[in-house]
Amino acid sequence: MDVIIVCHTEFGFVRNKKVIYEKKATQGVTKGVLNLMGVAKRYKAKVTFAVMPEVAEYFPKDTGQEIGLHVHAGWETFGQGKDAYEVGDAYLRVHSKQSSASTVLRDYSYDEQFDMICRGKKYLAEILGSAPTTFVAGRWSLNNDTVKALVANGFTHDCSAQPGAKPAHHDWSRLPRICMPYHPHEHDYQKKGAAPLLMVPGAQYFPGGGVNPEMVPWVGLAWLKACFSEYYRQGAPLFHICLHSPCMTDDYFISAMDRLLEFIAGHEQVHFKCAREIQEYPNRHVAATMLPYLAGLNLAIIKSYFLSSFKIFL
Ligand SMILES: [Zn+2]
Repeated sequence: MDVIIVCHTEFGFVRNKKVIYEKKATQGVTKGVLNLMGVAKRYKAKVTFAVMPEVAEYFPKDTGQEIGLHVHAGWETFGQGKDAYEVGDAYLRVHSKQSSASTVLRDYSYDEQFDMICRGKKYLAEILGSAPTTFVAGRWSLNNDTVKALVANGFTHDCSAQPGAKPAHHDWSRLPRICMPYHPHEHDYQKKGAAPLLMVPGAQYFPGGGVNPEMVPWVGLAWLKACFSEYYRQGAPLFHICLHSPCMTDDYFISAMDRLLEFIAGHEQVHFKCAREIQEYPNRHVAATMLPYLAGLNLAIIKSYFLSSFKIFL
């Protein structure tokens, strides 16, 4: 089984086990990236850092890891009171065409999406010395125009898919919860086709939610382990973990990530890879099964079931 870790690299910090994406909190990048690499190194794991252009100058040099592009369009305030923060990319806001303040990438025209992706790619290449070929959409929001713009800009991998989810700002509702990589159809990014871009969906636990250490306060670490077991026991060829770099400034989440990777690394035939190394696996359908979750059933997950409207949206 291949295992990838995709880290959305953003400013921010943790308060009360919650990431606050405060732009002044540069430690979300400077410390978060190094702390994650420290944990990953213990298990010889690779990390794909999907970097926002606005944080590029704060990204540690010479990490030796894959650098991808993470685009947050627009500029809006989220949260309230002391937990309020801005969503958007200060660099792209100034240097690319954006006709609105919407933070939903799919709201923008093809030309505007092309421009954001093109400018972001060039800037990361200039600052970090390597041109990204893996993309993650801010708020997981993309559409057919995004796929077209990514292909036109030479991207080969996309890690934005959250199978089953359909809040107001993205739609991955037609992908099965356990979904292996696929090439999308040019007129329907949720359908298999021949576009030269590999969609690499994130692993999803039952009944729905990304496998991310930031979810441990909601569902418990045992639930994420159960999800890995569900994939592993059925021979799924890929398990895709995602997280945001600011969570790695906090001991609680660092420990959660460490314990999750320790559990995964304890299995035979696990190969940690970066996103760009992933290729389509021939004819792999993986069924869902509840069995591994029985041991992980706890109060946290029962609560989370009733809170299932909650989704990480960045
Ligand atoms: Zn993000």
